[in-house]
Amino acid sequence: MSLKLYNTLTRKKEKFESLHDKEVGIYTCGPTVYNYAHIGNMRAYIFADILVRYLKYSGYTVKHVMNITDVGHLTSDSDTGEDKVEKEAKLERKTAWEVAKKYEKAFFEDEKALNIKRPDTVVKATDLIQDQIGFIKKLEEKGFTYKLDDGIYFDTSKLDDYGKLARLDVEGLRAGERVVIKGKKHKTDFALWKFSPKDKKRDMEWDSPWGKGFPGWHIECSAIGLKYLGEQFDIHTGGIDHIPVHHTNEIAQGEALTGKIPAKIWMHSEFLRIGDSKMAKSEGNIVRVTDLGVEPLAYRMLVLQSHYRDPLNFTDKSVRAANTALKNLRNDILELKKFDKAAADIYQFQDAMNDDLNTAKALASIYSLIKEAKKNRQNTTQDILDLDKRVLGLDLEREESIPENVQELAEDREKARKEKNWAESDRIRDEIGKLGFMVEDTEEGSRITKK
Ligand code: AMP
Ligand code: ZN
Repeated sequence: MSLKLYNTLTRKKEKFESLHDKEVGIYTCGPTVYNYAHIGNMRAYIFADILVRYLKYSGYTVKHVMNITDVGHLTSDSDTGEDKVEKEAKLERKTAWEVAKKYEKAFFEDEKALNIKRPDTVVKATDLIQDQIGFIKKLEEKGFTYKLDDGIYFDTSKLDDYGKLARLDVEGLRAGERVVIKGKKHKTDFALWKFSPKDKKRDMEWDSPWGKGFPGWHIECSAIGLKYLGEQFDIHTGGIDHIPVHHTNEIAQGEALTGKIPAKIWMHSEFLRIGDSKMAKSEGNIVRVTDLGVEPLAYRMLVLQSHYRDPLNFTDKSVRAANTALKNLRNDILELKKFDKAAADIYQFQDAMNDDLNTAKALASIYSLIKEAKKNRQNTTQDILDLDKRVLGLDLEREESIPENVQELAEDREKARKEKNWAESDRIRDEIGKLGFMVEDTEEGSRITKK
């Protein structure tokens, strides 16, 4: 089976055919660095990481580009409100530059903890202001822009099929129009360049042919994609919230400038939910990688246990269960190492991944491989660990080192159990728990893992 990927643009799973032989260009919309990323955000980056890893595993050379939004993302997606980074800077009594730097650093630390590989090229929006100005100038020359008091806007009515990615009901939207920004010709029009407010000094602002200001949120991705990946590249990724506005507008800008849709395949990962709502800073329900209470890779495991196009519900219980599953997998690997070496049949894994990156099924195939190997007393770890290193990224070879005192307590507990002294066995279990370890009773005896 060859690789199939779901393309939001066509709403179909399509056979993947790269534009340039074995070379694949991928663009990922990066974080807005106005605060710590939450684990919902990180789901989008784990997804992009799996995509890149699996394409490489499948023999492609991948050029992965990601932006860092350090300017231009306003508190509302419809070009109103404050710049998120400037707003946070005021709260923290820092400059916007300091805030952006602080949270960019934290973001890459979280990525590292989750075994997400750093994209080949990472570009800050503020690194490429002149390219963005150049892009807007060309759109202006082609007649796609108009000027308002607060900035330069893109006229979406100039494109015949604006909104095709999201299948937007453009007519309906325009009929029910409520003008948020004075003078905006159509509700779907969006800012390319915003002027600095007259009454406030921004930390981040630049001169432009239209006046001092800063770029709109969408133009950064268009300019960075064009510069590093060309007029059309293979795959563009982001979260599903990017479909109706951000990616729709990237497509509009790209098509207006070059006549081409910037990417052939548009892939979107679903939300991480908590309770009944999406995890979001505005909902006040965010969890960071560092707040999990279990190792970060347990969260990676949780994410991989579901398909990226399915919503995923986060609970303490689910991440703890993923943590146990991860530790058990590592212990299984250790156990298999006792047997004689043998090759594993990894076709099921590949089939699952080829089917639009079905990591849940791919993990299930690893479980079957392990079960089979245990039954036949075969050491198939070499192949399994290869899949882990190259694709899953769960550090399955990490040995859970159990300190000697914990080991001794476990032996005492085994003795108590044999003597059917349940009270003592429970007491020791609690003691082991206090030391940060868990005891599980399996068919093959008790097993200790780190909490
Ligand atoms: P931002 O930092 O707001 O620009 O968002 C970074 C990425 O996180 C984007 O790809 C969003 O689509 C994604 N995202 C935001 N909230 C969630 C969530 N609750 N679950 C999954 N992805 C999310
Ligand atoms: Zn973007």
